[in-house]
Amino acid sequence: MPGFIQFDADSLIVLTSTLLAPKPEEGCALLIGDNNIMASNYKTKGYQIKVIWPCCNIWEPGLLSPCRHQNSEVRAPQKTCSRENRFAIDPREQLLAQKWARTKNLKILGSAHSHPDGEAVPSPTDRALIFTSGLMVIVSGIGSAQAWWMQKDQNQHPQELIILNCH
Ligand SMILES: [Zn+2]
Repeated sequence: MPGFIQFDADSLIVLTSTLLAPKPEEGCALLIGDNNIMASNYKTKGYQIKVIWPCCNIWEPGLLSPCRHQNSEVRAPQKTCSRENRFAIDPREQLLAQKWARTKNLKILGSAHSHPDGEAVPSPTDRALIFTSGLMVIVSGIGSAQAWWMQKDQNQHPQELIILNCH
């Protein structure tokens, strides 16, 4: 797990505007950069986000995520599933991004998506669909970003990571 997440230059502004552009639908993107940087005051190495790779939200009913609430605590009437509360990134897009990143000596460090109608915290669906531990950045409807280390083991809570914004 990285000690911090550092956004280069304007990449955090680019990320929030990219993710909120499809509002009311969820926007999504891949985060590309360096996974091995140091920063003063931090003993652990961090992730440096250099490039935001915008992706189309290709979610549709039946694709990837089951349309149901995993969390029995959710008592509110179930909202219909749509791209307004679900997202999916095309695996072909990921492959393209990965190829491009390699040519620049960079890596895909994680993914990002927006909650146009909610807070920047992982939803039960976000947690249920994690297959490997890793970075997930979420942008709220009002444009604030939070970074999370998602755990493959759903019994473990996602851990919030510190975001450093470098200009
Ligand atoms: Zn989400």
